[in-house]
Amino acid sequence: MSEPAHEPLNEPLSDTTSAWEPVIGLEVHVELDTETKMFCGCAVSKGDPPNTHTCPVCLAHPGALPVVNERAVEYAARIALALGCTVRPRSIFHRKNYFYPDLPKAYQISQYDEPLAVAGSFDYWVAGELLTCRINRVHMEEDAAKLIHAGGDAGRIAGSEYSLVDFNRGGTPLIEIVGEPDIPSPEAAREFLHQLRNLVIGLGVSECNMEEGQIRWDANISVRPAGSGQLGTRTELKNMNSFRFLQQALEAELPRQIAVLEAGGLIEQETLHFDPETGATTPLRSKEEAHDYRYFPEPDLVPLTVAEAWVDELRRTLPELPAARVERFVAQYGLSRYDATVLAGAGDMARFYEDLVAQGIDPKLAANWVMGEYSAHLNAAGLSPGHGHVTAPRLAALLRLVADGAVSGTAAKQVFALMVEERGEALEIVARHDLAQVSDTGELKAAVAAVLAAHPAQVEQFRAGKEQLAGFFVGQVMKATQGKANPQLVSELVRAALAGREPGSDHV
Ligand code: ADP
Ligand code: ZN
Ligand code: MG
Repeated sequence: MSEPAHEPLNEPLSDTTSAWEPVIGLEVHVELDTETKMFCGCAVSKGDPPNTHTCPVCLAHPGALPVVNERAVEYAARIALALGCTVRPRSIFHRKNYFYPDLPKAYQISQYDEPLAVAGSFDYWVAGELLTCRINRVHMEEDAAKLIHAGGDAGRIAGSEYSLVDFNRGGTPLIEIVGEPDIPSPEAAREFLHQLRNLVIGLGVSECNMEEGQIRWDANISVRPAGSGQLGTRTELKNMNSFRFLQQALEAELPRQIAVLEAGGLIEQETLHFDPETGATTPLRSKEEAHDYRYFPEPDLVPLTVAEAWVDELRRTLPELPAARVERFVAQYGLSRYDATVLAGAGDMARFYEDLVAQGIDPKLAANWVMGEYSAHLNAAGLSPGHGHVTAPRLAALLRLVADGAVSGTAAKQVFALMVEERGEALEIVARHDLAQVSDTGELKAAVAAVLAAHPAQVEQFRAGKEQLAGFFVGQVMKATQGKANPQLVSELVRAALAGREPGSDHV
């Protein structure tokens, strides 16, 4: 009899020749951008002075009672539906008990075995390949307060260290998305999170600001012999909020686990800490991590029921999701799937691209520019798509000049840089910096003749049969004209000059 598929595999493995494969599962927390907190009327704080948004409910004064925020349920349901989950007509809240200064009630109101939504899936791309990760559930809870740990001498009162507590964050609506262990590599884990974040932002339910910890996650990882259906024992990296550190941490943990197993050891199920400085994963003291949360149903809240018609309405009004948009970009604009994932993955980038195409710009030309010069500019300037001086209409004006042959592709890059630098318009910059494409045959013929005269050895080689040198001559003429020459015309003139004939003539 074979083992059930979910039984952890934790026998010492002595076969050192077998290849290993990683298995990764993510638990993602997202703070919702509601006006008020999950169970009280306090405003959700956006960088306000500490402890200015508190009340008896979120400070856990005796006798204060929680009331569920309907908008938070709606936002959570939107996320669940976008992940193809079933929103359950009835769910209940539980108390998750633990004692820590960030939690004045000494329990967090969360959901447990009857969550809001279950059984979905998320499609994401890794290097142009579509992967699917099953989603176990989406549940609602409240965020804890924020602890500010004071360090050094300043952090000591009467010789002991102390922390400050800001209760503004306490009670902020939070959802947890629990993914199944379906993610096959650290790179895929990073893509999963990046694209999940784009999905949530596109739903308008959270800005997912990384610095403010509006999206953060735990990463679980195990290894198993490649192709094995079993799951190995996992370790967990807790509370991360950097894509880069996530990938680095998983890439460090992977060889560590393999080395333990290959040495005949066992993986201990534990929580690890990743130190970006040393690149190593080390165990957190596991005693303190061995919680017993003593979950029990929250007696102060009635079960949450949602009407089917309401859920249907939410489903009907979901915006176009990134996965569907990628497919539409492929079909509508003839883009490769890779280009479509870059352009359609995030809502603001997709909007900018479509604004450009709506100005009558060829979709392929627009794609090349948005993914090339324009993205490089956004990165360098720290801007998001559509922001800054170069708006879609301004870039469209430049690309129209390229399409019409008024500016060469090379010169257009210079024009673009000058548009950014001088905050000007394409046409005006082309005129002022003399960057119009030269299609004047007389002028170009002279440039060709000069280049051939300057390279007699290459001309001889060409005539002796080394025809690929034509490209070299064209390049030299482009250089001599600072990229302004019409390259097609130059190519024609170079070949004609080398053959000793008039361009366009059929006689050889
Ligand atoms: P817990 O709630 O105790 O953390 P769960 O079984 O609910 O435990 O799993 C939590 C997360 O761990 C999920 O995201 C799941 O995908 C992941 N996970 C579970 N088993 C494994 C495994 N063997 N390898 C990698 N990830 C795993
Ligand atoms: Zn409050
Ligand atoms: Mg966990």
